[in-house]
Amino acid sequence: MDVLLQQLKCIVGDDGWQTDPSVLEPHLTEWRNVVHGRTPMMVSPETTGQVAEIVRACSAAGVGLVPQGGNTGMCAGAVPDASGEQILLNLSRLNRIRNVDAENFSLVAEAGCVLADVRSAARTVSRYFPLSMGGEGSCQIGGNLSTNAGGINVIRYGTARDLVLGVEVVLADGTVWNGLRTLRKDTAGYDLKQLFIGSEGTLGIITAAALRLFPDPGETVTALLAVPDALAAVTLLGNLRHALQDRIQAFELIGSRAMEYVQRHIPDVRLPFASPWYVLVDAAGGSAAESLQAALMDGMRDGTVVDTAIAKNEAEAEGFWRARHSISEAERREGIGVKHDISVPIASMHEFLVKGEERLARAVPEAEPVVFGHVGDGNLHYNAHLPAGLEPGREGELRTRISQVVYGLVAELDGSVSAEHGIGVLKKEWLEAHKSGVEMRLMRTLKDALDPKNTLNPGKVI
Ligand SMILES: Cc1cc2nc3c(=O)[nH]c(=O)nc-3n(C[C@H](O)[C@H](O)[C@H](O)COP(=O)(O)OP(=O)(O)OC[C@H]3O[C@@H](n4cnc5c(N)ncnc54)[C@H](O)[C@@H]3O)c2cc1C
Repeated sequence: MDVLLQQLKCIVGDDGWQTDPSVLEPHLTEWRNVVHGRTPMMVSPETTGQVAEIVRACSAAGVGLVPQGGNTGMCAGAVPDASGEQILLNLSRLNRIRNVDAENFSLVAEAGCVLADVRSAARTVSRYFPLSMGGEGSCQIGGNLSTNAGGINVIRYGTARDLVLGVEVVLADGTVWNGLRTLRKDTAGYDLKQLFIGSEGTLGIITAAALRLFPDPGETVTALLAVPDALAAVTLLGNLRHALQDRIQAFELIGSRAMEYVQRHIPDVRLPFASPWYVLVDAAGGSAAESLQAALMDGMRDGTVVDTAIAKNEAEAEGFWRARHSISEAERREGIGVKHDISVPIASMHEFLVKGEERLARAVPEAEPVVFGHVGDGNLHYNAHLPAGLEPGREGELRTRISQVVYGLVAELDGSVSAEHGIGVLKKEWLEAHKSGVEMRLMRTLKDALDPKNTLNPGKVI
């Protein structure tokens, strides 16, 4: 190990490595503070060439390398294990926007670019990069692609996977694959970039990406709605999509308990009304405001909408979105949360919620379900909070019981145990339980082929 550490120091230079425990500490704990790791060194390369040398050195030494972006992931994929023998590869200094091409509607960003900065860079040429989520001020494009992140605009633009034209990747032996093409059409052979998107650093290190930009969607109208239940929300979504077509940019369902937590823990959040369920909707483009207003009037008549608050200005719209984006932070402050990021077919969403609540109440009466999500994509964050002060050992037992209820129902309804957060370490056992033997075998075949020494993010995903 000592020889490797000396090599790594030489590769990245004096400013590019850290062993100081107080500096390392936030990098060794994931956002939810559930998993804690150890490392002898964190390296922060500035160039793709340095990444390649680091990967080569770790591969030669047979030492695991854990890539880390903004460390906002929810499945502990970006922290090393507890052995103290894995190197942490922090990509924050690899953060240049290499190119913005307004005519080609494309942008090339290095992996460590913060998502909010990528969105701003697109705006400077009057273009739009649609990936957007609560953690966008901290998460990085490399992390977004590696988790195939979703966020609030998937309903119109798709997930991170749909927004990528090409990638630059360092393979497990240190070879650099420059796949930064910006073509819209390319059917020449396998679409290799897709292997690295969503693979959470287990097949290669993404060092840069060519991203798709879109025309500016135009003025956005934001409305917060009170709806009676999730069934009404799903019907309303269908009606709004019919009326406004692809002008619906976002459609989020939020349960009242999530909003209660936000109001308890986040200062200056005010809601215009109280409701068992809220919907937050964004519509943009040609006369979206008039069309949305008309569709919501129809919703009031047919009972899918109980109350509406259309934001009068940007500040009010931001206020509504702040409430939505603060849910994860409010949950963290509330205490022990058992998180699930699931998806089911949209038509089964209501059934999932009704049965989920019944079964959870029977199996773990002390659990409080906290529900919110990108309902337009069939994606729910179905979390359960447990009271503080549980006896030692009981928390683990209740966590397992809660997840068994949730994932059991997901399987019955033909859903997925991870809609957008990935697998990391926290969901590994559930992946095994939910994927078929054929799928697991194909995944292992790919891992063995691309990382035969198992040095890229070992112990994650599979
Ligand atoms: C408040 C909040 C809201 C969120 N909302 C959403 C949401 O709406 N939708 C959503 O999808 N997620 C959401 N997330 C989760 C998280 O932000 C995303 O998963 C994000 O994409 C992770 O990016 P990151 O840079 O923080 O990655 P990290 O957490 O650092 O890493 C995530 C995984 O990718 C790997 N990785 C990181 N960089 C690279 C690289 N360059 N090459 C190879 N592997 C790499 C890591 O090893 C790890 O396995 C939210 C998080 C927070 C805190």
